[in-house]
Amino acid sequence: LHDALPISILNQKVNGQPLVYFDNGATSQKPQVVLDAITQYYSEINANIHRGVHTLSQLATDAYEASRAKIQRHLNAKNPHEIIFTAGTTHGINAVANGFAALLQSGDEILVSAMEHHSNIVPWQMLCERTGAVLKVIPMNENGELILSEYESLLSAKTKIVTVNHISNALGTINPVEYIIQKAHAVGAAVLIDGAQATPHLKPDVQALDCDFYVFSGHKVCGPTGIGILYGKEEWLDRLPPYQGGGEMIATVRFEKTTYADLPHKFEAGTPNIAGGIVLGTAIDYLNEIGFEAIAAYEQELLEYATQKLEQIEGLRIIGTAANKTSVISFNIGNIHPYDIGTIIDKLGIAVRTGHHCAQPIMDFYQIPGTVRASFAFYNTKEEIDTFVAAVERSLSMLK
Ligand code: PLP
Repeated sequence: LHDALPISILNQKVNGQPLVYFDNGATSQKPQVVLDAITQYYSEINANIHRGVHTLSQLATDAYEASRAKIQRHLNAKNPHEIIFTAGTTHGINAVANGFAALLQSGDEILVSAMEHHSNIVPWQMLCERTGAVLKVIPMNENGELILSEYESLLSAKTKIVTVNHISNALGTINPVEYIIQKAHAVGAAVLIDGAQATPHLKPDVQALDCDFYVFSGHKVCGPTGIGILYGKEEWLDRLPPYQGGGEMIATVRFEKTTYADLPHKFEAGTPNIAGGIVLGTAIDYLNEIGFEAIAAYEQELLEYATQKLEQIEGLRIIGTAANKTSVISFNIGNIHPYDIGTIIDKLGIAVRTGHHCAQPIMDFYQIPGTVRASFAFYNTKEEIDTFVAAVERSLSMLK
């Protein structure tokens, strides 16, 4: 898979050493087809969409809407207008949380999990402040798995929305979202799934999952930054008020009253990231061409190989040992600060993330300041893992 299609940024030296890029959880690298598609858009059809009768505007609009339809098929959504282009996962979550302000009453409850990224915590806290709703937390165990019996006892008629990640960015845990959704629906609650970390590794089927909202970011699936997707069931998107007001999202504007456009435009105020939307479709095609089954199988091999090698390092503790896990390894070694390991191995050409990974409650749970996180993509190799492990060992000889 490493040589599937060229990703030229990977073939460079950093600090004089061949780059080993293991920070895929933060963002993915971009294949040549994606870079070419960006250039092609700006050099051939750049124009504002949905606005002009002229040919370029129609070409840009057609390409943008074709990409929406492609993403609809990818997620197996029922309708293209259930696919909203956003700036990313954070934007998608905020749009839904903001919409729920109109539906919640004081005392209503929102459930988040103990392993959420800050972007799936803070918007809900802001919503609670506005509405008097109460935030409840689904706890997890030491392995980094949600405790489902406790989840079930938290659910009640007061629960209005449950919001969890499909895969944890800090732990790699793959959450049992089908089950979570089914139980939430049994008490009449809506469910938002944060797919930021899942979409690079698997192909979600939103109808099979039966989730009410599913959000992800383009930059984590080999696409550009500044583009993402909010999937919402039609009936929910119809119920929620728009997040932002402006051009494109209206049917009529009078000073006395404005009426909103139909879906999806109601949620797409202003000139969108047109190139990003079109090129996200290219990135999704690229991943589907490689195939998500092949990606998942190969990444699982990388995960097992790296886990086994890292476990041989004395004093190394893996944070996140769920039975169902993707290719993310968070770890600490003794009392060494993760930042120190990260800084030394960067000098050896290796890119990992260190710190709290925008998930401070997880770090509090394990009572650690942070972790070193290596997150693998389909374009990584076992040889790179060997180089990485040797670099970690070298950093230890300097730090101990
Ligand atoms: N949710 C999870 C699980 C993530 O890993 C991330 C990014 O790392 C986000 C949300 C936020 O994504 P973005 O910064 O692209 O909006």
